[in-house]
Amino acid sequence: MPPKRSMEKVFVLSDFDGTITVEDAAIAIMNEFCHEDWYQYVRKWERRDMTLRESLKQMYERIQASRSEVEDFVQRNIMVRKGFPEFVEWCGRNRIGFTVVSEGLDVVIAKTLEKYKVKADVRTNRMLFEGRKVRIEFPETPPLCHHEDGEVCGTCKYSHVKNLQDEGYFVVYIGDGKTDARPGKIADVVFGRRSLARKFTEEGRYFFPFDNFITVRERLGHILGR
Ligand SMILES: [Mg+2]
Ligand SMILES: [Zn+2]
Repeated sequence: MPPKRSMEKVFVLSDFDGTITVEDAAIAIMNEFCHEDWYQYVRKWERRDMTLRESLKQMYERIQASRSEVEDFVQRNIMVRKGFPEFVEWCGRNRIGFTVVSEGLDVVIAKTLEKYKVKADVRTNRMLFEGRKVRIEFPETPPLCHHEDGEVCGTCKYSHVKNLQDEGYFVVYIGDGKTDARPGKIADVVFGRRSLARKFTEEGRYFFPFDNFITVRERLGHILGR
């Protein structure tokens, strides 16, 4: 695949749930702390009866847990893929930008990164706790989130790719799920697994499969010559 942009300025954007982590942490949190049929909101989004943003709000606000319960769950249960902390360090050493872009939950991501002593910029949805009640805010939906199909994101991953490309960055996107397809389609290089990999395979789009971040670092090092 010929690179569309110069590779002088490189930025990596990575999804969190199921990409950085082994299991989807947001789903694990829902299963642990929501005692209702929360999956109906995922189905409503899939049927396009709700925007992504509405569906995430409905779903996440049904979590019944305090901040410390959520953090404790993350500490005990959430694991990152092999080579992730080293990959972030490698990006830093090579002057490659790295940001997590996620439709998950800020507290979950922050606690996971802290557990592995990883320092990284994170763009995601915000959890506000009032005791064991949760309210969700979307600080990362920029004006650019006007998609032709009417979708409204919680955190607009697409806009993050687009804004960096407009600033002249060669953007590498890493993801695994449905919300990674839109940003993946415009990214300069894509690493994909699970449903993102299936969709890109079906559509004949180029991507690199990966299981861990050692593979990503080796492949990306090769592409960028670093
Ligand atoms: Mg994911
Ligand atoms: Zn969007």
